[in-house]
Amino acid sequence: MNFMEKDVKLKIEEIPLFELMESNFSGCPICYFNFESVRKTIFSILYESVNDPEIRARLREDGFCHKHARLIFQVLEESPDLGLLGISIILKDLLDSATELNTIKRPSRGKKEREHSHECYFCKIEKDANKRHISVFARTMTDHSKRTIFERSESVLCFYHTAEIANVLSGTPVFEEFLRIQEEKLRMLSLHLESFIAKHDYRNTLPFTSDEASAWKKHWRSSRKE
Ligand SMILES: [Zn+2]
Ligand SMILES: [Zn+2]
Repeated sequence: MNFMEKDVKLKIEEIPLFELMESNFSGCPICYFNFESVRKTIFSILYESVNDPEIRARLREDGFCHKHARLIFQVLEESPDLGLLGISIILKDLLDSATELNTIKRPSRGKKEREHSHECYFCKIEKDANKRHISVFARTMTDHSKRTIFERSESVLCFYHTAEIANVLSGTPVFEEFLRIQEEKLRMLSLHLESFIAKHDYRNTLPFTSDEASAWKKHWRSSRKE
């Protein structure tokens, strides 16, 4: 991909980011897009790729981690039309290949390595998606008007993604400005939490504002659902 093509692709990828930020989404946009990338991949596999030999081989090889097993259950619950045949075929394949048992039994592997939780197929999808989303977000932060959209939005990056974006922007002229915006957002969250806690005093007669009542989940929210 040459520079021009890369430039256009990045700009196209910015569109959903700004649509999300302008929709009053109040969580971490990168967590949201990472989550959506994996959720859509799970849906698409269960919908049309259960019998794809390449995907089946990769699922057999990598299995599922707990986090993504829970997400598979969530997708199946959200989309009952998918039925349970696809996931049953995939799980039977996984159990019959017994990759996990072979790993445990393999004498060359130490105890520490066996205890180490591995990356599943969807962890890898999420890692790749994260790289793309970090690159798009960091790029938008170099543009003053786009930075202002982020600043005025309800979106607030989680600590993990704040650090990742800061790493990309380190040494550029916008590094300090990005951190200032993000710190201010986190300070506002902290203030809302403080006043939510203070209003639990039995002498308080004031109702909670919606910002105070929802502050606890803003830092982790990765879906549009409440
Ligand atoms: Zn995040
Ligand atoms: Zn995983």
